[in-house]
Amino acid sequence: MRQKINGETKVLGLIGNPIEHTISPIIHNILASKLDMNYVYLPFKVENGMLDKAIEGARALNIKGLNVTVPYKEQVMDKLIEITPFAKQIGAVNTLKFTDNGYIGYNTDADGLNASLIKNSIKLKDSKIVIIGAGGAAKAVGMLCAREKCKKITIINRTVIKGQILANNIRQYYNVETKVLGLDEIGKIEPFDIAIQTTPIGMSPKVHDNPIDDTDFYKKFHIAVDLIYNPTKTEFLEEAEKNGIKILNGFGMLFYQGIKAYEVWNDIIITEDILEDVMNELINLYG
Ligand code: NAP
Repeated sequence: MRQKINGETKVLGLIGNPIEHTISPIIHNILASKLDMNYVYLPFKVENGMLDKAIEGARALNIKGLNVTVPYKEQVMDKLIEITPFAKQIGAVNTLKFTDNGYIGYNTDADGLNASLIKNSIKLKDSKIVIIGAGGAAKAVGMLCAREKCKKITIINRTVIKGQILANNIRQYYNVETKVLGLDEIGKIEPFDIAIQTTPIGMSPKVHDNPIDDTDFYKKFHIAVDLIYNPTKTEFLEEAEKNGIKILNGFGMLFYQGIKAYEVWNDIIITEDILEDVMNELINLYG
């Protein structure tokens, strides 16, 4: 059913900067339409220094739910009345749910990636994982791998100290073996199971960049995940595929984090048939 905006329409949205590239409004507005719910989801660009006012304003305007993207996933945390324990462990929030007293913060990035991995029969439990990058997305990935009882996490990052901080943070909550290497120490890596690429290297328009051009690296593992979804196949995934490695891009993570946010806002579970319907409509739109 198509959406009609009227006096009872509730507003959802995304705050961040920049946000022009986002496809979240497409996902959520298709969802609202398929579920026949009277919601509209809009992008709200929040300028530097305006986050406080944006959250206050959203609350005053009764905005029922917000997604949060770069650069506000961490800054937003002290503007909330409550944060889920797992979002606290990650140290970032990407979903806000309205309550009469203020917003509650969730992190659906990790669960979005988890859902995408499960859908593609990729198992974190007992796996040796290499995470490339130690930024915001890597925090969610690292904490997810540890929560799902992976065997070992190796973090490779340009700035080694940032990798060490992430590893220490993970070990504060989970009893998992961790190792940290600089990008120039790739040769030291021992065989492992899954590589998860979390840096923006290779993202459009710089589609020919690859964080790891050492060809020996691609002989040491059998599953490659890249959080980037534009392009659909990064240089990193291209190189992995050439070496017979199973590949997965970040579209599923994006899709499922959005689904999980919608479930949080509405206290519902979205059924598989609706999910497939929404996914098919997205594939029709984006090919
Ligand atoms: P971020 O916090 O800025 O972290 C960027 C990471 O990449 C850092 O570890 C940084 O290393 C490294 N890096 C950046 N440029 C580099 C370069 N030229 N050479 C070597 N290392 C470099 O970014 P983020 O929020 O984690 O996002 C990272 C990517 O994940 C983006 O492409 C984003 O679109 C994607 N993402 C996808 C989803 C999804 O749903 N699919 C969700 C979240 C994020 P240093 O520590 O040395 O600076």
